[in-house]
Amino acid sequence: GREAEAEKDFAKGVYYLTVGAQYGNEVAQAMVKNNPYAKFEADNPASVWSLNDAGFDYSVIAVFGSQSTGKSTLLNHLFSTTFDVMNAETGRSQTTKGIWMSKTPTANMLVLDVEGTDGRERGEDQDFERKSALFSLATAEVVIVNMWEQTVGLYNGANMSLLRTVLEVNLQLFQKNGTSKTCLFFVLRDSTAQAPLEKLAETLKTDLEKLWTGISKPPGKENALISDYFDFSFARVAHKIYAADKFAADMLEIKERFFNKAHPEYVLKSKYHKGIPADGFHHFAKSIWDKILANKDLDLPTQQQLLAQYRCDEIAKQIFTTFNGTLQSFKPLLDSGLIVSDFGQQSNTIISTSFDKDAQRYHSETYKAKRLEFIEKMHSSLHVYFLQQLRNLHKKCIGLFQKTIADKLRGDDSHFSVKLEESQNVAKQEFMQVCKEACIKDANWTYDQYYTAFLKDIEELSAQKREEALNRLSKSIEKTMLTKLAEPVVVLLNDAPNDLWTKAVEILSNVIEETKRLSEVKLSELGVSEDVVQVSVLTMKHQAWELLLKVAKDEVADVQILEKLRRRFESQFRYDDKGLPRVWKPTDDIDSLFAVSKEKAEQLLTLISKFDVPTSSLDQDIVQNSDFDVSSFQIISPTRQQVVRERFGKEADGLYVEAKRSTVASRAV
Ligand code: GDP
Ligand code: MG
Repeated sequence: GREAEAEKDFAKGVYYLTVGAQYGNEVAQAMVKNNPYAKFEADNPASVWSLNDAGFDYSVIAVFGSQSTGKSTLLNHLFSTTFDVMNAETGRSQTTKGIWMSKTPTANMLVLDVEGTDGRERGEDQDFERKSALFSLATAEVVIVNMWEQTVGLYNGANMSLLRTVLEVNLQLFQKNGTSKTCLFFVLRDSTAQAPLEKLAETLKTDLEKLWTGISKPPGKENALISDYFDFSFARVAHKIYAADKFAADMLEIKERFFNKAHPEYVLKSKYHKGIPADGFHHFAKSIWDKILANKDLDLPTQQQLLAQYRCDEIAKQIFTTFNGTLQSFKPLLDSGLIVSDFGQQSNTIISTSFDKDAQRYHSETYKAKRLEFIEKMHSSLHVYFLQQLRNLHKKCIGLFQKTIADKLRGDDSHFSVKLEESQNVAKQEFMQVCKEACIKDANWTYDQYYTAFLKDIEELSAQKREEALNRLSKSIEKTMLTKLAEPVVVLLNDAPNDLWTKAVEILSNVIEETKRLSEVKLSELGVSEDVVQVSVLTMKHQAWELLLKVAKDEVADVQILEKLRRRFESQFRYDDKGLPRVWKPTDDIDSLFAVSKEKAEQLLTLISKFDVPTSSLDQDIVQNSDFDVSSFQIISPTRQQVVRERFGKEADGLYVEAKRSTVASRAV
């Protein structure tokens, strides 16, 4: 089954890069077991091994070498992986053609077990060798070259063909934009330790230099040195069976060089890292593998750039999904006219942190360009909501202003202008604060025109409030003046002395003076302009005059004037000088007394009927006001005077007849 299929695939020239089992992870193991020929994309190793957030904090290590030289055994010893190892008894390997990947359980190390060739001159083998070398060098920091110690110096061996491939492929990958070094770690197996390691290392280096010279370099790299691209490390391992203890000790020592950062020959240096962030490794690996299979040109900087574009787009897309979720939560609030209190904070968080966190590890130029693109897109989607937020804010702050001023006044207009200003400030501050909060960092949004429009509305409303307060003040002044005027004027009209109107003007002036002082204080508290104060004072004076006239007119309405005349008449006709009621005697001159009394009553009617004082004694403000001609005020019209005079005449006549009768009666007694 499995092997037969692998053979078939191999014959077609298709190689699967299969994700190996994670040590100790049953789920991953089961997954791989059930689907051993899964294409690379079937499993994202970074996800399976929870490396997505590792950034650059992971390593890739690959192994090269001929078939059955103990490569898988080496990896399993060094990295605690479980790569298939050839069965010693049957001599059959269960391993497929391909590149297997596994992870060290104790560290973020991805280990590539690259299936080796059998050294025969098979076209497919060489083709695969090239492909796997491309893949390994594009991803791995350290490439372990595994070989029998005794083959060192055999320049024509299969190893040389492999190394040549490695050097060529590396030149292709790194021909652009400077260099990225890889560590070639030679592990010499079945070491007899007869020759010193330094000697073997020298031999290998010499062979490599020879290979390097023979390779045709791309333009611009003609003088490149092998050491520009590679660092070399060397180690040896004793025979697994004949020197089992030494074998184990040698393995442990090599292990140290991978796991102990303090080791003098520590190999996993950051300079070897290929700069692929862990979350992009899967896409990167898959896309370069696709390219390798398609025999497309491949160089690492271009691949890094392509990866950056892809990943930045993907990251942006993902954030947009989250972002749209957040916008969805803004929407019902904004649509119902409310404010999103942390609009700016929420937006800023999404914009600034999320993209940068993952994207900034990618190819810097690409990242920067994508970042601008991303932020612009975010800004423009947010701006719609920002404007809605401002519109809602406008309404909210107008409401806030209205409520604040209403709460502060509560029917008490004292310190009106202070209260008004405080209320304006409360609303303005809220507006400003929310505006500032809602602005996105670096978005260059402006709210000036919205603030100006808001201020205009607040000003209009304030003017309206002031106007209302002014009306209230005017009404209360009128009420106060009426209280102050009514009684003295009524008393005055009852007494009705000859200088009635001069006295009335005196009362009026006093009330006006007093009220003016009071209202000027209140007007200044309203914070109205000098013009308005003047107009208000003048209005107040008019009101005072109107009140005076009203009180006077009310006092002589209907029968009240007749009553006054009658009283005036009777005070003379029916009472004597001592105020005692007269008892008519036949000798009394009733006719003369009647004539005088009637005359007095009629004089009173004339006096009351027309307001009459010299203009010079009046308030000049009022006099100069053309549509207010006080000198011609008529309290009782001539027509009504005539009616009153006639009715009074009849009443007086009645009293006269009564008086005459009483003398007749007294005579009869
Ligand atoms: P690979 O094909 O290079 O991965 O080799 P394997 O790890 O599958 O091992 C092939 C065979 O060599 C197995 O039977 C191992 O037991 C054996 N083997 C492993 N390590 C050594 C070693 O250091 N020396 C020798 N002589 N045999 C080894
Ligand atoms: Mg193997």
